[in-house]
Amino acid sequence: MNILERPVTALTGVGSARANTYAKMGIHTLGDLILHYPRAYENRGDIKTLFEASMIGGKCAVVLTVATEVKSTNVRRGMNLLKFRAYDDSGTAEITFFNQPYLKDKFPLGAEFRFYGRVEQTGRRYTMSSPVVEYFDPTSPPPDLVPVYRMTEGISGKQISTNIASALSVCEASLEDHLPPDVIEKQRLCSLRFAIKNIHNPTDYRSLAAAKRRLVFDEFFYFALGIGMSKTKSRPSGAPVFKNADIKEFLSALPYKLTDAQSRAVGEILSDMQRDTPMNRMLVGDVGCGKTVCAAAAMYVAVKNGRQAVLMAPTEILARQHYADLSEIFGKLNISSALLIGATTAAQKKKIKAAISSSDPKERVDVVIGTQALLSDGVEFAAPGLVVTDEQHRFGVNQRATLAGKNEKAHLLVMSATPIPRSMALIMYGDLDVSRIDGMPPGRQRVDTFAVDESYRARLEIFIEKQVAMGGQVYIVCPAVEEGDDEDEAALGEIGLFEISTKENAAREEKTPLKTAVEFSAQLSKRFPRLSVAFIHGKMKSAEKERVMQDFAEGRVNILVSTTVIEVGVNVPNACLMIVENADRFGLSQLHQLRGRVGRGHRKSYCVLVSDAVKGPESVAAKRLKSLCALYDGYQIAEQDLLMRGPGDFFRANQNDAIRQSGGIKLPLAEQCDDASLMNTAFAEANKLLASDRELSAYPSLKAKVKSMFSLEAGTMN
Ligand code: ADP
Ligand code: MG
Repeated sequence: MNILERPVTALTGVGSARANTYAKMGIHTLGDLILHYPRAYENRGDIKTLFEASMIGGKCAVVLTVATEVKSTNVRRGMNLLKFRAYDDSGTAEITFFNQPYLKDKFPLGAEFRFYGRVEQTGRRYTMSSPVVEYFDPTSPPPDLVPVYRMTEGISGKQISTNIASALSVCEASLEDHLPPDVIEKQRLCSLRFAIKNIHNPTDYRSLAAAKRRLVFDEFFYFALGIGMSKTKSRPSGAPVFKNADIKEFLSALPYKLTDAQSRAVGEILSDMQRDTPMNRMLVGDVGCGKTVCAAAAMYVAVKNGRQAVLMAPTEILARQHYADLSEIFGKLNISSALLIGATTAAQKKKIKAAISSSDPKERVDVVIGTQALLSDGVEFAAPGLVVTDEQHRFGVNQRATLAGKNEKAHLLVMSATPIPRSMALIMYGDLDVSRIDGMPPGRQRVDTFAVDESYRARLEIFIEKQVAMGGQVYIVCPAVEEGDDEDEAALGEIGLFEISTKENAAREEKTPLKTAVEFSAQLSKRFPRLSVAFIHGKMKSAEKERVMQDFAEGRVNILVSTTVIEVGVNVPNACLMIVENADRFGLSQLHQLRGRVGRGHRKSYCVLVSDAVKGPESVAAKRLKSLCALYDGYQIAEQDLLMRGPGDFFRANQNDAIRQSGGIKLPLAEQCDDASLMNTAFAEANKLLASDRELSAYPSLKAKVKSMFSLEAGTMN
């Protein structure tokens, strides 16, 4: 057996209890363990004076000389205190350890130690309690960068670190590098062994950078190869060929004319549907560009050719909205439609299911719109012709596959409002053909966008009141649900895996604590006692979420405070003000999507990005936010975001897509990558390789590795 596949219990010190803890973290084998990369590094090499450390506030490293004997006291049963003083040029600190009596003899007078922890100042005295200690020998100082691992209950970072170190020592020799040597050479990548060793225990910044570059390159490279190889799988023929693709009648039932971009997209969709290979197409276009009507045209054609069409939306509200819009158009055209959602009564469901599966074209329902309820048992289409899914990235992998799989030979159209830069779309949607709708229908208003700092708070509140007084509605978006929801808040003093410095952020966050939906809506209710303020967040039950959204959509709520759940394409034309709190926390594309929630009706609409990042010297965050005030095209914004923040954001935001495409491959480092050029390079190398050798026949071990990663074949991951 390959040593990487040995269970973690093969390590000394890892018993079944520890193994269970690891299993909860998804770690089963030694191979899994060494791929459990640190989430950050403690920068113990950046040594501060006590004075500086007390000003910084977060965890810091200080080098101190022991000044007094260690005093040990047993405060009460089971509680031992060790206390002593140690100094540097800036002052003296009292160091305290709780219940670590064995440290008593470790601090000889005059010896130097490096302490890592928080330095507090009380009066004129500095204090540190239970810091991390290392003996400090200036001729061979301890390592500067100490890994911080994602943990779970029942295991400490130190234990993980120790286990990883022993796993590395036994596995190192068995790590096989599958990357073609000429790629390694050309891209000047370090060896895999070096990379794995240094991601866990970097000797210095340069080695860490080289390790990250290598590992991120690998992830992108394998990802691109896997998708490229799965694309070659042939698709079954036998889809219905829709001979009659005349949509004049459909167009005449619309209250407007299609734009050129819409007509082009419809043309591409219809030409797919006239072939017996099932269509596998994605329709992308910015929020509000009018994708639904394009799908409706395709649905019309399916029905005109004697088949059924189905449209699945991710939420009940969206399904209802689609049903209201489309049943009106289809009604005019004598096409029957039905809505099937969770809230549909049992009796009604039974009737609809019968109408869906009826073999009699007269009784059969032509168009069915619904939610995941469409996936439930007993929903059997008698004559499926076209399956459309809306906002597809919101669906789980299996749900979409189920609907498509149940109607294997039907044509498939997925709609997405996430603009993805071309270079990424090629990979992420590799096996889908893409139609893009560029631009907006005529007469669409532009949402005036402003980036402001906290000093505008009072003016902003007046502005909210004014908008509501004029009959408008307001969205306020906050990034997280609860304080501390966000892991990187713990990062004070740590260097994130891909952060150069968190200090600036940390300092800023202390001043403006993260606005959270829960606490913020409570504050607002107090501030606007006469207005109706509601809040909604991702952790709420979906029925509850739908109820709140419905209240907002129907005007019973003036101000809706939320986390980003409203990204999903709900249409509330009366909403005219979008406020995003801590806006620097969001990607540009995400902000653009949020902005698309307003400006949908006749009201003049605004988007206000609140962030203290726009105050003071021009930071990257400020530049990003300001660029959004001038940019309105989703693709330009996505390209800009890719350049400024790197591809990690897109992979995170579109994780479902990426994972669906990849059959479950994880991109732990690439998801955090902030270097777009590295992704492009890796994709280009992968594509070049595939172009010359699509089956990777000349690289059997690489091929086996990719296949196993992508579950293209049963295999192992190493
Ligand atoms: P999305 O692409 O975000 O799903 P929708 O399909 O919901 O956008 O369309 C947004 C709005 O634009 C709808 O109210 C729709 O009726 C309207 N619309 C679509 N196409 C046109 C057009 N060619 N001219 C005018 N209005 C249009
Ligand atoms: Mg839509």
